[in-house]
Amino acid sequence: MPSSSRAPTGRLAPSPTGRLHLGNAWAMLLAWLAARSRGGRVILRMEDIDTVRARPAFAGQMQRDLEWLGLDWDEGPHFQSHHLDRYEAAMEDLRRRGLVYPCYCTRKELRGLASAPHAGEVGPVYPGTCAGLSSGDCAAREAQGRRPAWRLRCSDEPATFVDARRGEQRIAPASLGDVALRRSDGVWAYQLAVTVDDAAMGVTQVVRGEDLLDSTPWQVFLLGLLGAPAPQYLHVPLLVDASGERLAKRHGSVELAALREAGVRPAAVIGWLGARAGLLDTPIPMPCAAGELIPRFTPAALPSGPVSTPDGIAALLRRLG
Ligand code: GLU
Ligand code: ZN
Repeated sequence: MPSSSRAPTGRLAPSPTGRLHLGNAWAMLLAWLAARSRGGRVILRMEDIDTVRARPAFAGQMQRDLEWLGLDWDEGPHFQSHHLDRYEAAMEDLRRRGLVYPCYCTRKELRGLASAPHAGEVGPVYPGTCAGLSSGDCAAREAQGRRPAWRLRCSDEPATFVDARRGEQRIAPASLGDVALRRSDGVWAYQLAVTVDDAAMGVTQVVRGEDLLDSTPWQVFLLGLLGAPAPQYLHVPLLVDASGERLAKRHGSVELAALREAGVRPAAVIGWLGARAGLLDTPIPMPCAAGELIPRFTPAALPSGPVSTPDGIAALLRRLG
């Protein structure tokens, strides 16, 4: 049986560095619907490797917000901060195979590098400055007290994957640069943690914001090196504010907790998001439970561009009932 017809294992993967906002709710509702509409399982994974910014209190609040929205999960919460051995083992394997190398470039040296045309949100392309350092070169830098980041030697061969909205994508990871898998302060990079966890947890369906589409060629390439199959991907449009800027944690007024305190009910939030996702019969939102959207979900209904959130969304949602 082809993997596409098997019930998927999806995941909700919030970073507990703040409170969930409407933009997170949008991405998580769609991830949840994508799994549930095909009879799939949902894993909750807290992406808390950034120990400076992530806080346990946010993780607890996020679970309550997800429950409030009516989004449930079958497994977890797992915490990336509990998987450090797993990341270490993957890195050791890559190191033994010569697939990673230490990079001693300073932040200052990395600033001002040109971005690739399609690098999008992943930033400047690392030009491989440290790719050919000898062990003597490394020892000299270590002797100066410098600690390296670790980068993946990326392939010129295109990484190929299918996005359920955008179709087949073919991008050579090398064209995005040798991605850092571990920072010089020892913190694991998002790219390594997310890929190792998706492989270890048997995730077969990844649904997330379009801002992460540019990371996917690296992740597909890394999954191949780790001997894990690539999941199915669906990158969803982003929710933006009235001026077209992506909703972020600093938009305090669209935090779910703030909406709840303003008297908004979860059915209004789900109904508004469902209408924006093209899952209601009319573009006019009506209150509904997340479960009611399950049989209606299809990636094809999603809008092609960013979804605008009007000013005064709290009042709008309150009126919705
Ligand atoms: N933790 C990431 C976020 O909150 C999502 C990562 C992913 O879905 O791959 O944006
Ligand atoms: Zn370097």
